[in-house]
Amino acid sequence: MEIGATEKRVAEGRLRVALIYPGTYKEAVSSLGYLMVYSLLNEDPEVVAHRFTLESPFSIEENLPLKAYDVIVASVHFEPQLPKLLAYLERMGVPLRKEERERRIILGGPGVWNPFPSSAFADGVFIGDGEDTVPRLPDFAHLHPTEWRMDGLFSTWSGEATRFAYHDLSYPYTHILTDSTAYGRFPLFLEVNRGCRFACRFCLVGWTEPHRNRKFSQVLRIMEEHFERGAEKVVFFGSDVLSFPHIKRLLDDLASFGIPFSIPSTRVDKIDDELLSILARGGVRTLTIAPETAYWKRKVFISKPLPNEDVVEVARRASSYGIRKVKLYFVLGFPGTTEEEVETLINLVREVRRYVKVGGTVSVFVPKPYTPFQYLPMEEIERTAKLLKYVKRKTGFNTMNPKRAALQTLLSVGDEKVSELLLRAYRNFNYFYWRRVAREMGIDIDTYLYGPRKTPWMDVVETYVPKRGIEEGFEVSKGVYG
Ligand code: SF4
Repeated sequence: MEIGATEKRVAEGRLRVALIYPGTYKEAVSSLGYLMVYSLLNEDPEVVAHRFTLESPFSIEENLPLKAYDVIVASVHFEPQLPKLLAYLERMGVPLRKEERERRIILGGPGVWNPFPSSAFADGVFIGDGEDTVPRLPDFAHLHPTEWRMDGLFSTWSGEATRFAYHDLSYPYTHILTDSTAYGRFPLFLEVNRGCRFACRFCLVGWTEPHRNRKFSQVLRIMEEHFERGAEKVVFFGSDVLSFPHIKRLLDDLASFGIPFSIPSTRVDKIDDELLSILARGGVRTLTIAPETAYWKRKVFISKPLPNEDVVEVARRASSYGIRKVKLYFVLGFPGTTEEEVETLINLVREVRRYVKVGGTVSVFVPKPYTPFQYLPMEEIERTAKLLKYVKRKTGFNTMNPKRAALQTLLSVGDEKVSELLLRAYRNFNYFYWRRVAREMGIDIDTYLYGPRKTPWMDVVETYVPKRGIEEGFEVSKGVYG
């Protein structure tokens, strides 16, 4: 069941947009970014935007095929969604190469903020916040992409430089409420802030999005409106939710009214006794912390120097408030990762387990564009695989497949050649297959994984951090490991 889907029919629109989420329905209705784009487009009386997911060839709203729509817009949150999107479009009979189609495809979302890996098939890419750019689609959709000129939109035809789009979070969004999201029944996705001021050197959000808080009065209005429409719980969104000035008051009020809520993974230095007591009163039983690494030198390297003792202490205190489980997120696979570093991680998990149950995930470092670590090579894949296997055996944590991380790296910091590779190899997202196809095409995958890496996106997209600042961030990190 859904509350708030558009009732507009295709026949009513001057511009008909197929809005694709390259995943399942459940994932689509759990993505605030995707749902926001849906509402931004449908606010225009002349635009009809209908949703598509990979599970169906027909639109959710009207059961129509893709060909009933004038423009295709797709939200790409993670790079591995790109091959899935291409496979779907192929099944729907859409020519993939942009020169072979009339209909325009525009992508958006953090998975494509480096527009080059999608440049062979997408006509354009929204880069940055969508609030000011997406609603302008009717102004440029009818023009040839060589004529698209707008901050926050990269035309893959002209290749002209653009600026990352920033919004002040004044948009009073409304989103669909449904009973089958990844967060349970009828959650309100409440984004209290965007961006992050900590700027860890590997983090896309920390380097592309300046930190902005939504106005408290607007947060209250969004809550009020969604509760009136049937929201049953609040899922807080934001990379730095606990920095929102009124967060404790909000959580405390929700706990008092018996309204369930959840917060995303957080920095350990943001968790104090007052917060733990509010979380426990609100029924939160699992705390998610992202130390990233347990090894002090590595913490300094990535610029997240938070002591392990603090993680253990927070776990101890959390258990005294009745919070019985802690999830820990780590990243392995920075170049030069040592056995000692891995043992430190395992020891930290062991220490935390003295107080609470512990689960977690160890992902693999994937260099992101616009960050200091866009220049950093990955650790050799076989070595990372070996270390991950060991960590998994000792901790029982979920671990990311390093070969998939390698392919993700190609799509994260790739260029136009990678886009051609994607067009050839999207049907089989397998490391050895991609290597073979790349070899046939004369593309050296290792340069993208291990460097020296070119950064063409830096020449065409201007973010709020000047190139010199990003380079300096990398230079400083080199001072830690040499
Ligand atoms: S890793 Fe977390 S704390 Fe660091 S910059 Fe990213 S969002 Fe902020």
